[in-house]
Amino acid sequence: MLDQPDSPHLGQPGGSTSPVYLAVALDVPLPGLFDYSHDVPVAPGVRVRVVFGRRAMIGMVWAVRDHPGVSADRVRPIEAVLDDLPPMPADWLRLADFAAQYYHRPLGEVLLPVLPPPLRKPAAYTGARAAGGPVCRADRRPGAGALRAGPGNGSAVDPVMLTAGQQAALDQLQTLLSAGRGVALLHGVTGSGKTELYLRLARQVLDQGRQVLILVPEINLTPQLEQVVRARLCSAAGDLAVLHSRLSDGDRLRAWLRASRGQASLLLGTRLALMTPLPRLGLIVVDEEHDASYKQQDGLRYSARDLAVWRGHDLGIPVVLGSATPSLETWRRAQRGDYRLVSLPERAQAQPLPDILLVDTRRAQLEQGFTPQLLQALEARLEQGEQSLVFLNRRGYAPVLRCSSCGWVSQCRRCTAHTVLHRVAGRRAVLQCHHCGDAQPVPRACPDCGDQDLQPMGRGTQRVEEFLAERFPQARIIRIDADATRRKGSAEALFAQVHDGRADILVGTQMVSKGHDFARLGLVGVLNADAMLFAQDFRAPERLFAQLMQVAGRAGRRAGGAQVLVQTDYPDQQVYQALCRHDYLRFAESSLAERQDLGLPPFSSQALVTAQATHLADALDFLRAVRAQADSLPESAGVYLYDAVPLRVVRVARIERAQLLIESPGRGALHGLLRVLLPQADALAAGRPVRWGVEIDPQEI
Ligand code: ADP
Ligand code: ZN
Ligand code: ZN
Repeated sequence: MLDQPDSPHLGQPGGSTSPVYLAVALDVPLPGLFDYSHDVPVAPGVRVRVVFGRRAMIGMVWAVRDHPGVSADRVRPIEAVLDDLPPMPADWLRLADFAAQYYHRPLGEVLLPVLPPPLRKPAAYTGARAAGGPVCRADRRPGAGALRAGPGNGSAVDPVMLTAGQQAALDQLQTLLSAGRGVALLHGVTGSGKTELYLRLARQVLDQGRQVLILVPEINLTPQLEQVVRARLCSAAGDLAVLHSRLSDGDRLRAWLRASRGQASLLLGTRLALMTPLPRLGLIVVDEEHDASYKQQDGLRYSARDLAVWRGHDLGIPVVLGSATPSLETWRRAQRGDYRLVSLPERAQAQPLPDILLVDTRRAQLEQGFTPQLLQALEARLEQGEQSLVFLNRRGYAPVLRCSSCGWVSQCRRCTAHTVLHRVAGRRAVLQCHHCGDAQPVPRACPDCGDQDLQPMGRGTQRVEEFLAERFPQARIIRIDADATRRKGSAEALFAQVHDGRADILVGTQMVSKGHDFARLGLVGVLNADAMLFAQDFRAPERLFAQLMQVAGRAGRRAGGAQVLVQTDYPDQQVYQALCRHDYLRFAESSLAERQDLGLPPFSSQALVTAQATHLADALDFLRAVRAQADSLPESAGVYLYDAVPLRVVRVARIERAQLLIESPGRGALHGLLRVLLPQADALAAGRPVRWGVEIDPQEI
């Protein structure tokens, strides 16, 4: 078949036999499956090479049909059956099918992008005849071929005794394991030793000869977990497979193959690991289940956490969701008894949680955004030789550059957004757009009035770093943010410096808040938290609370006396009040009550239709047409459609954007409407200069 000429017409392959028709999923922006023919049936879940339009593509067979959906003379033959892998397993196909239906996307957008790149690039496949195919190369790796279906017998002795609280929690989680199914929410304060429980549960499942999937938000930020898992659960390196997006294609393929062949019994990875075939899967753990990174933000906008729960349910295996600040969706399910709630209210090492103090900035004399109280606290920790963290969720030097005489502010040429001043010693300063990435040199004079007095307004991590270096010349200061960690390995190097005690003050964005166990951290100062509170999104307080609890949780993990100082203009806001009492329960209860009053998730389900066009009017017109269409459908009963509105940042990279929010108290009603409406929206978009998409359970509105 490899040598068959590229012909749009099908002869009679093999002479007398009649062809079979294959419904093939392709990753193209068109709905539905595509018919191709072949001389023998091909199992669902097998990859095939086909020509689509003029392009060679890899597709996946979804079904075999007797008759094609289009006239038979328009059906092309497939070019090759890729027999380098067995068909994808049935449970994996079910998961993909569910994801496609739930997120209202074509199957091809699910089945193919989740495969490691070499398995979906036509050029990478050289056929089973050639020995050099990507899969064969993976096989030749030492150790990769050795099947270890047996238990993961890492060190048999656990290095720590469980605390009474951990033991009680483990007992409860164990009933889940013995029942063989169900979802548990492990709600444990930061430092309560959730990891230890994941490890013990995983050990039991591995000992039964089954596989374990552990999902983490961002693998590059949690190298410690990988080390611990390796040391505790894996005897041979081959037992653990790690998957995340920063791997090279080859490494990703090898890890995927070892996991999907059952050679690796433990798979640790980020959201993309969820869609790996795992033939003996016995347990799924989702650490920091509330984390926004579980939601994919482009293409198929799926939630790996939600799909993990579905996969566990489908397979009849337990799923453990862990968090110090569970998402309100998960919390409500635990409250309703859908999930078993298991609590770890105390830290494992008898260290009290750090004191969280609110510092009222309304009447304070600020020096570069710092209150005297925070500066004194930093000084005191320096004198005691303890580390401090200054947390500020804004990278760059200053969020905007401004002309003092006419009020001009730096603006992106391509977006309706200010450009951020980036300025670090030894490099040319630039004005960078955080929406489109465009970077421009800093003008010498105001483009509007010619005045040369251009001033940075506000501050980001670079300016804070600069200020602290002036203020505390004796201190070793490290900045950790997306700019400082762009090069591969630089994040690891910076974190190593902190862990080794080669840093006194750490200035960082949310990158530093996750997972890290900083032994010597005694003080956390939080700047500009209010900006996060007043973001225009109903989940803003929830995210702020989770984030501040996380950062606070970095402090005082080895010694008492740790403090968190949160500077705010609004100390009476209930998110801050709950925060300084470490009171997640109170925060969750009052937030849920508020959401219920307003009919917001988790008391309703939402979908967001977004439209993009060169001119906002076209995007809005389209969404209004969709809304009018919905109103004319009987399926819209019980579903509420908001007005179409421009996005807060309307224009990004010269494209203008608008959205239409659709909401219903019943998930069924919402999806019922979408099933009918979305195909019609496709028709409405035809001939209009718009692109559109839909997101289910949007996290940012
Ligand atoms: P969490 O993930 O809940 O924030 P960790 O799992 O990181 O907490 O645990 C916090 C710290 O406590 C880690 O350094 C861990 O090694 C330690 N730890 C966990 N359980 C115990 C225990 N039973 N005895 C002593 N130390 C423990
Ligand atoms: Zn000016
Ligand atoms: Zn821009």
